[in-house]
Amino acid sequence: MPRVIPEPSFRRYSALKGAPPRGIELNMDSLDPVNADNLLNSSKPKSITTFTNRPSRDEAMAAVRTLLAWAGDNPDREGLLDTPKRVVEAYDEWFQGYAADPAKELSRTFEDVQGYDDMVMLREIDVESHCEHHMAPFLGKAYVAYMPTEKVVGISKLARVVEIFAKRLQTQETMTKQIVDAIETSLAPLGVAVMIDAEHQCMTTRGVHHKHVSTITTRFTGAFKTDQALQDRFMRLAQK
Ligand SMILES: [Zn+2]
Repeated sequence: MPRVIPEPSFRRYSALKGAPPRGIELNMDSLDPVNADNLLNSSKPKSITTFTNRPSRDEAMAAVRTLLAWAGDNPDREGLLDTPKRVVEAYDEWFQGYAADPAKELSRTFEDVQGYDDMVMLREIDVESHCEHHMAPFLGKAYVAYMPTEKVVGISKLARVVEIFAKRLQTQETMTKQIVDAIETSLAPLGVAVMIDAEHQCMTTRGVHHKHVSTITTRFTGAFKTDQALQDRFMRLAQK
């Protein structure tokens, strides 16, 4: 069952102001986001919901003022007057992944690999993301590899795919799977391996306050799943 996005109360207001539909595709897998096993073993079909009722910039700034007051401060004091504007601009950057399409990034492939038949791997791709539970940053590195068939993709595109998913709200588990799925679907390679190693500020700065705990998620498909030696090589290269 797809998750139901509640009808936002600002819908009519946006429509009146002629706000253009944003056409965001949200991947709304109805999976328990904290249970990686459940996620990875799920065979449930994906559902895509199109979110078109984006609030206006003014509405977003008003919401930031509300949060400032909720934090206990006075949104009208001088130091905070421009904060809603800055926060909204920061959101444009942090969440720009909603407006981008990973499949498009991977659509341009090259077929002349001159017999190259081993893994292609990118190490230490920066991950700057926000968890969907707290909207708190999680920061780390991603390691992405695939075994090409006759098609390869520009290597910068793999980093771009990581960035697109990172600049959306999700969990590290879903992000790991989304990266794998995007590469599988676009390149149909012999296998994909993804590892993400990240520190979640919702865990280090609040709640349990465990400093320096990092979360590792992995996902292997095809040859990386069936060939233990290949998987070991990926993990060694990732950790070197
Ligand atoms: Zn969190």
